[in-house]
This record gives sequence, structure tokens and C-alpha cells, in this order.
Amino acid sequence: MEEKIGMGVVQQGPNDKGRFCPTCGGADVVASELTGGDGSCNICGWKGKVDELVTFHFSHDLGSTEQVFQNFFLDVRAIFSRELLEKMGTVLLKWGFLDMPIDKKLFARYTGAVAKAMTKAIFEVRKDVEKERHKTA
Ligand SMILES: [Zn+2]
Repeated sequence: MEEKIGMGVVQQGPNDKGRFCPTCGGADVVASELTGGDGSCNICGWKGKVDELVTFHFSHDLGSTEQVFQNFFLDVRAIFSRELLEKMGTVLLKWGFLDMPIDKKLFARYTGAVAKAMTKAIFEVRKDVEKERHKTA
């Protein structure tokens, strides 16, 4: 059984960025430090540009919770089922964010960004709830 959120095994390094594959959400990505450089995923084989990876800047986005956040993000990304992705694709097409034939890379950027925003939103609510508890305590 895998360890749950909060007991992550994510390595800590001098890098203050967390990068994830836009297609599978995997953290095992190779990324050039150069802007516009190449990136790839060791899990699903995605290849593209570094800018297309889902990136978190931990120092200002998240403070000290980065390890929890990385693992949590992976779990959030994993709930994007095929049905959910199909429905999302339909909505993006309807509103003109995608065209037929669907650009898979662009779609992956949208879904990666959605997973990131979901993860952040949940963390932000949690932060607010903790603040509110402190006030009333
Ligand atoms: Zn991948």
C-alpha cells in the first residue's frame, strides 16, 4: 500500500519548482532549465516544451507544504477519468477553446492547468478554514 498525503517521498533539492507531465500528471519528468527547452515524461513518454509542463513555484505559491502538495496533485490528477476528460473536451470545443481535430497537446495543457487549479483551490480553502478556527478559538 502506498503512503498517504503528508508522508511523501519526494526528494528535496535546491530546485524550488515542481514539474509535472501535462498528459499523465507524472512527476518523473526531464526538463531542460532553458526557457523554451525540451521536456519529456519518463512515465507516459510525453515529449514537448518545458513551458507545457505543469509547474509550481513552491517558494511563493505554497510555502513549506510542497511535498504534500506534489503527492496531492498526483492524486487529484488521477481522478480525471476518461469520461471526465471527454466531457471537458466537449465543453472546450463548444466554447471555442479547442478546435477539431483536437490538438492533444493543447488539451493536455488545459487539463493539467485544471488539475493544478483544483489542487490549489483545495489548499486555499484549507488555509482559510484554519485561519477561521484560530479566530474563534
Ligand atoms: Zn506523462
